[in-house]
Amino acid sequence: MCIRDSPWSLHTRAPADAGLTHWLLSTAALALGLWLSERGTCAWGRCAAPDCHRYFIDTGRRTPQRYCTPRCATRVRVAAHRAQRAAGPEESSGAASR
Ligand SMILES: [Zn+2]
Repeated sequence: MCIRDSPWSLHTRAPADAGLTHWLLSTAALALGLWLSERGTCAWGRCAAPDCHRYFIDTGRRTPQRYCTPRCATRVRVAAHRAQRAAGPEESSGAASR
């Protein structure tokens, strides 16, 4: 498979004795590589949650994706909210006046 007018191209070549599983995996990897290359350099990333080590594929929403799942985003947002409340009323009143 080749993209015309591109300085590079992605290929897959299965060994002669490759089975169906190998062919399916190499085809899926090629399709993923093409999909990632067409979407630019920020199509994937590492989750921004401090205790999460997962990676994600950005699904193309308007804002760049920062977390692997909504669950990680919610967990970080709740922790920030709790830290702000624990910091005291002067911190939260300063944040509310912005
Ligand atoms: Zn995560």
